[in-house]
Amino acid sequence: MAVDFRFIIIGRGMMGTAAARHLSSMADGIALIGPREPEERKAHHGVFASHYDEARITRTFDGNLAWGTFAARALDRYREIEAKSGISFYSEVGCLFAGPEKNEQDYIERALTVSRTLGSNIETIAPSELGQRFPYLAVAADFTGYFERKRAGHINPRALVRAQGKLAEQGGVSLIEATVTSVRDAGSHVEVTAGGRRYSAERVLVAAGGFSNFHALLPRPVDTRVMARTVAFYEIGEREMAIFSDMPSTIVLGDREEDHIYILPPVRYPDGKTYLKLGGDTEALSFERLEDAGAWFRSDGSAAERDHLSAIALQLMPELAGCRVTSAPCVANFTPTGYPYAGFTQSPRIAVLTGGNFVAAKSSDELGRLGAVLLAEGQLGEADFGGALTPFFAAA
Ligand SMILES: Cc1cc2nc3c(=O)[nH]c(=O)nc-3n(C[C@H](O)[C@H](O)[C@H](O)COP(=O)(O)OP(=O)(O)OC[C@H]3O[C@@H](n4cnc5c(N)ncnc54)[C@H](O)[C@@H]3O)c2cc1C
Repeated sequence: MAVDFRFIIIGRGMMGTAAARHLSSMADGIALIGPREPEERKAHHGVFASHYDEARITRTFDGNLAWGTFAARALDRYREIEAKSGISFYSEVGCLFAGPEKNEQDYIERALTVSRTLGSNIETIAPSELGQRFPYLAVAADFTGYFERKRAGHINPRALVRAQGKLAEQGGVSLIEATVTSVRDAGSHVEVTAGGRRYSAERVLVAAGGFSNFHALLPRPVDTRVMARTVAFYEIGEREMAIFSDMPSTIVLGDREEDHIYILPPVRYPDGKTYLKLGGDTEALSFERLEDAGAWFRSDGSAAERDHLSAIALQLMPELAGCRVTSAPCVANFTPTGYPYAGFTQSPRIAVLTGGNFVAAKSSDELGRLGAVLLAEGQLGEADFGGALTPFFAAA
């Protein structure tokens, strides 16, 4: 049977748009299907995404070689994507990890080993120097710093998605603005229903982020946990800008796991205001139904988590006192392996690319490349950590 497309990619998010761009240089006959960001988040009753924001931390410093490699490969292509698309998204302001020597020492040791393998330059900053080098941060006297000055900072996820989409379209990818409501292996091809229309393809890649198990996109649901996350925004004025404008992206390893937080430097948002953003990794709420995930995205996140983040923020950055604090919801999609999923499902024609594990924005260009290789070649090799990325599925 003649198909409409050779390949269909579902999800115009960070991984899906990257996959479409990469695949466009490997093959013809590609469609990328997904809705755009809703104009009114609180009135929207469809699918959402984890990249509706202006800043995500990027770094190669990572305790895991695969994740560090994905980040480094992606980072090494950022400037080329910016140049080709004419859309800038990368601020190379560096990334600082700070914590007392005893906290997460295993992670730090592994990250230092990974950074040597990747050729990343990590400066260790002694407790006695940390305060002087990074005066915006009020940490205890026993904190050591690990500073990655180059190949680190933050990216604008919305802008990166725009850049990837623009280059994919220039590469011949057909962009279809619709939500997919069913994907079915019809034997010789795959049928995809979106916006009331049916499209056929030889192979399909489902890259729908935390929404991959909603609607009938996969033969069997992937084994992931879609967890709530709340971010706190501090509205910054001129006085605070003088203090925080030169700060790098910052990750603080607190005494307890629930006190670990990440901080994005001041970034200007579409409302014209500048915010310093922070978040943590503790919220226990998870979602198994589209209605519940949707209700979360229509909320302002958790007020308790916002207050928890705010208390830590004021300890670490007392100069933020008095700034207006707001919050927003997001979801992180965790896999039991700790790796992203890039592999075929029960159907040899339907593959899945998801499982960002709260850290995949920075690496999305490389993960997209892996999705493209998977569709074009049918498998991933070990140089691409193919074995580790094998998806797990819910029991039949
Ligand atoms: C609060 C927060 C902070 C984070 N901070 C960082 C950070 O600092 N650094 C970092 O590297 N990572 C960070 N991450 C993680 C990163 O944002 C995610 O890993 C990344 O967005 C995942 O990309 P994705 O393409 O899998 O999903 P998404 O970016 O969510 O894209 C999925 C896409 O699929 C589409 N879709 C869903 N359902 C359908 C359907 N039925 N039909 C068609 N399309 C569909 C959606 O519209 C969306 O566009 C953070 C995440 C959160 C929540």
